[in-house]
Amino acid sequence: MTISTRRATTTRPIRRLASVAAALVILSQTFGDAAAHGPDPVLGGGPFGQNQDLRFRWRAGSEPTAAIKTAIKAAAADANATRASKAATFTYDAAGSNPIGYGVGATCGVNGIACFTRTVPTGFTMWLREQGHVFDWGTLKWCQAYASPPTGCYDAETVALDEFGHVEVLGHHGNYADDSDYLDAVVQTYSRTKPAAGWNMHTFGRCDVATLQRQYDMQTWTAKYSTCLDLSTDLTLSASPVSIPRGGTTTLTATLKVVDYDSYVRLGGNPIAGRAVSLQRRAPGTATWAVVGTMSAGAASGTYVLAQSLQSDMEYRTVFKTPADEGINGDTSPTVRVYVGYCTAIVGVSDVIDAPCI
Ligand SMILES: [Zn+2]
Repeated sequence: MTISTRRATTTRPIRRLASVAAALVILSQTFGDAAAHGPDPVLGGGPFGQNQDLRFRWRAGSEPTAAIKTAIKAAAADANATRASKAATFTYDAAGSNPIGYGVGATCGVNGIACFTRTVPTGFTMWLREQGHVFDWGTLKWCQAYASPPTGCYDAETVALDEFGHVEVLGHHGNYADDSDYLDAVVQTYSRTKPAAGWNMHTFGRCDVATLQRQYDMQTWTAKYSTCLDLSTDLTLSASPVSIPRGGTTTLTATLKVVDYDSYVRLGGNPIAGRAVSLQRRAPGTATWAVVGTMSAGAASGTYVLAQSLQSDMEYRTVFKTPADEGINGDTSPTVRVYVGYCTAIVGVSDVIDAPCI
């Protein structure tokens, strides 16, 4: 698609650094009003394929300078390393089908210092304006163009990472009015210049990652969910066998999944493995739960097991506490009762047929 850029003054007030007359500029398109905070909005056209390898080359006749090439390649590596999902990857390849250009041929909008197009599933294009490009707010300075980058320069690696994020599917993050959550995303309407916080951000932020995870899914079932997400989980429990002889053993199996809401896109129903799920028990008719222990990983992803040997009936439940370091919520399973009797133990033992049974 073609990127159109509206003048910054027509969209929202330009917030300027005190010492820099025009520190903040629209990087490319503005994507409408996103909900404040939360995961980045998504662009039209949908995601690329999971782990699709998008190969880029330099646009013939509009090749970046050596320093800008290095920055763009670094941004591609940043995207690949910090996507925390099966988002598409970016790889430089002289024979790649996706051109990245630099210079006066840039087709960005009037205030855009960089821009992109994306066409799923085919590919993308990207442009960065040339060093010294004159905007009505001032002259573009790429930090990479200097041995000692001056105040007010734009980091081309950060700006290219914003563009790679757009190519994936990300729209600009909706910040709080005071921008206190600016560092939650590198995909921002307004890029910052040196030395404002975030000017040289070289990773996707947690709210960029949240949307990449929803759109592309997790790399593994043990991987952490972005703290910018707020996903409900479902924890269930079963006992096998549910009835055992006195002194016999049953295995409690818990299953932990992400609840399958449509709004979770690809994350709904995911097994959640490698977490701390604890088993609790109580005698039937009592109120207080006692912790038995942490359950072990079961054979299937997202299952947890613990064997129990019992002398009398017991009730069990499992608890997954809300973790502090990821965006999934805890859950407690329904209660399961295990019955203890004698019948199974006496099968084939004819001289104890008077043993009590339940
Ligand atoms: Zn942008």
